[in-house]
Amino acid sequence: MNPKCSKCGSPKIIPLVGVLDQGQHSDGKLKAIVGYTNPEAWVFKGPVYAKLKANICGQCGYTELIAEDATALYDAYVKTKS
Ligand SMILES: [Zn+2]
Repeated sequence: MNPKCSKCGSPKIIPLVGVLDQGQHSDGKLKAIVGYTNPEAWVFKGPVYAKLKANICGQCGYTELIAEDATALYDAYVKTKS
């Protein structure tokens, strides 16, 4: 089954393979920060982010983002709130 654009229904879907201009330390992954951990925490220091996959519609340009490891991401997000 081929993916279809959820906006216009076109089958012309382009999967994102990397991103540019993320800065010097880019690993080519699109990331979305969902929170910051307690700086005094012993583990999980720093920003909590989702690695994003994307499908771009070659017809209308609609871009769908999907986060990898959503359940692990949610666990990490909850920890930022504690
Ligand atoms: Zn479309």
